[in-house]
Formats: sequence, C-alpha cells, structure tokens
Amino acid sequence: MLIINDKTFRPFISADAIQTRIQELAGQINEAYADQKPLLVVVLNGAFLFAADLMKNLTIPCEITFIRVASYTATESTGQLKQILGLSESVANRHLIVIEDIVDTGLTISEVCEQLSAQNPASIAIATLLFKPAALKNKIDLHYVGFEIENQFVLGYGLDYDGLGRNTKDILVLE
Ligand code: 5GP
Repeated sequence: MLIINDKTFRPFISADAIQTRIQELAGQINEAYADQKPLLVVVLNGAFLFAADLMKNLTIPCEITFIRVASYTATESTGQLKQILGLSESVANRHLIVIEDIVDTGLTISEVCEQLSAQNPASIAIATLLFKPAALKNKIDLHYVGFEIENQFVLGYGLDYDGLGRNTKDILVLE
C-alpha cells in the first residue's frame, strides 16, 4: 500500500512480472531490428525506467534520445495541440521505436508519431509498457505492448501522481 496526498494505491503489477515482460519485448525487438540500428525515442518523464530496462535487454546496436511533449492551446478551433520538445538529432531515414509509459486516449502518441513522420524516418514503431484499450480515441497500431489494463489510474515504475510515486519497482493502482 502507498498513500500519496489523499489517495491510496495498492499493488497491481509486480516488479518481477514487469521485468519478465520487458525481457520478452526486448527479445522481439532484438529479432525484428537485428540489422537496423534503431533509435529509441523516449517520451519523458514517465517512460524513463521502462526505457532503461528495455534498453538493458537489447543486444543489438541501438541508440537512444529523449523528448518531452508540451501541451499548448493553439486556437479555440483546434484546441489543445501537443508539441515535441528536445529532439536535436535528425530522425530522417532512421528506424524509430517510440517508447511510452502508457497509452490512454492515444492522443499523445498519435501526435508524437505524426510529428516524427513529417521528418521522414525509415519506419516508426511504438513500444508502450501499459495500454488502456477502453480509453483509446483513435485507432493506432501499437507494436510492443507490455500489459493491457482496465481503465484505472496507475502509478509507480516511472508513472506519477502529482509528481510523486515514480520511485517504486512495482506498478500500483488507485483503490
Ligand atoms: P493519452 O494522450 O494517451 O491520453 O495520455 C498519455 C499520458 O497520460 C501518459 O503518457 C501519462 O503521462 C498520462 N496517463 C494516462 N493514464 C495514466 C495513469 O493511469 N497513470 C498515470 N500516472 N499517468 C497516466
């Protein structure tokens, strides 16, 4: 059990289960990208632990870079847009694997992929630790999914509540 501010969280996915699943995903990536030298594009902050453990299990040549997604209101008609910050290197002709902590509505990952696609990468795949299918708004192709979960609020292993709770080895769920 973990209490943060006014909320109680209970154990949900154990550290062992997380690590076992990450090894399986890394095995698939090792096979699929053997000669491609993929560039892992990590969406901060939540995906940093997942990205680190995934990369430790990759045995192929690969590179990593980190981006942030900032929301800003463009105009009233377009509503909230999301902008990629921090991508300094060229992704043209690279095989990209976008690393997310969780896909909820899918809006973040679709916008990230759209903006990366505009820079002509050789390919884009998505690896997300968690996926909430019930919350998904647009259909997107998720190539590597750690765990499909119900539409509940989770935290831990990189994911936060109000900035706190990222520093657990397990994933917990709101009671
Ligand atoms: P989407 O654009 O897919 O709706 O939202 C993705 C982002 O929302 C994630 O990267 C994450 O920051 C946040 N998010 C969505 N669901 C959860 C959740 O259950 N727990 C936490 N901590 N963050 C979440």
